[in-house]
Amino acid sequence: MPMTETGFARLPAGDSRWAELKREIQEAAAELGIDDVGFASADPFVSLKAILEDRRDKGYESGFEEPDLNKRVYPELSLTQPASLISIAVAYPSKMENPPKSAPGERRGILARSAWGQDYHQVLREAMEKLEGFIRERVPEARIESMVDTGALVDRAVAERAGIGFKGKNCAIISPKWGSWIYLGELITNVPFPPDSPVTEDCGDCTKCIDACPTGALVGPGELNAQRCISFLTQTKGFVDEEFMVKIGNRLYGCDTCQVVCPKNKGKSWNHRPELAPDPEKVKPLLLPLLDLSNREFKERFGDSAAAWRGKKPIQRNAVIALGNFKDPTSVPKLIDILLHDPRPELRGTAAWALSQIGGMEAGEAIGRALDAEQEEEVRVRLRTAEQKLQASIGD
Ligand code: SF4
Repeated sequence: MPMTETGFARLPAGDSRWAELKREIQEAAAELGIDDVGFASADPFVSLKAILEDRRDKGYESGFEEPDLNKRVYPELSLTQPASLISIAVAYPSKMENPPKSAPGERRGILARSAWGQDYHQVLREAMEKLEGFIRERVPEARIESMVDTGALVDRAVAERAGIGFKGKNCAIISPKWGSWIYLGELITNVPFPPDSPVTEDCGDCTKCIDACPTGALVGPGELNAQRCISFLTQTKGFVDEEFMVKIGNRLYGCDTCQVVCPKNKGKSWNHRPELAPDPEKVKPLLLPLLDLSNREFKERFGDSAAAWRGKKPIQRNAVIALGNFKDPTSVPKLIDILLHDPRPELRGTAAWALSQIGGMEAGEAIGRALDAEQEEEVRVRLRTAEQKLQASIGD
């Protein structure tokens, strides 16, 4: 077998074995826990680089991305002498049977559909491990690097090139079969699989997602300002600007609006995997009990969910925001408790906003007491804003 200058065995391109193996993988995909699989060349994503640079220059990044743009563009920085990329998709449910309803005194939050079942990182990792094993069994000299979400490559760019779907104006990959309700993962390998063709479908004249985005985060077709995206904002740990708190509504993790309104997703919900089925009480939880969870209880309840990756604080802060948006007076005592006693400034400051949304004498008195005791300047700023809002509402 010919060797490359780095000492790796070179697998001959064009060998009929690779087309045969590709067929075997396609046939075995369902058994491996994969709903769709596509193959692509491992050429650099040259045109993507300018797009990523532009996003960075405009300040549109979330900050959760791989910071080295070259790693995002050049597969060879993740695996020496790669020959192919394999994109895998796992479809998940978009509809829940009998979702529990919010009611006065029993207000509920909601998790995005991508966090309804078992953490998709685990689901994809398991599927990719099986696929890796499948390939290695047949090609012992195969080198494979698999990645999901936190990997260097842009999983959507890989999926697009590998023919899994097209990039919608909402930035999601939309599969003609599965819609955009898919988790994506990818493998880089030295096996030179024959590539698939990209999907030719597109959004046409539709702009529903851009029109529906609550915060105007979709600044153009396929262009997202992550700093305005509710999905990103629900995963931050600090204070959230008032403009966004109002728009967050009762979302505890993620958004979904741009996918829910998408006509390409109409009638698409995938319920064939029990591990991805939503537990209604977990994905639409009561808000007040969430605020009393200890770290251990939070881990027990949400530890196997993708929503838990940033810990308890963002979800509890979002629960406080949701209570403010519901304007339900029955949540005032708990919000006052947080305002006066929670050790986390972000929770105290957000509780001040929530109380100013609900209004009333009790809320006003509590904010006055908090102002007497509060030491953190950022919380004091929020307390003063809340106080002014309450005074203005009394004057109305
Ligand atoms: Fe494309 Fe319309 Fe779907 Fe947006 S809502 S991704 S424009 S089809």
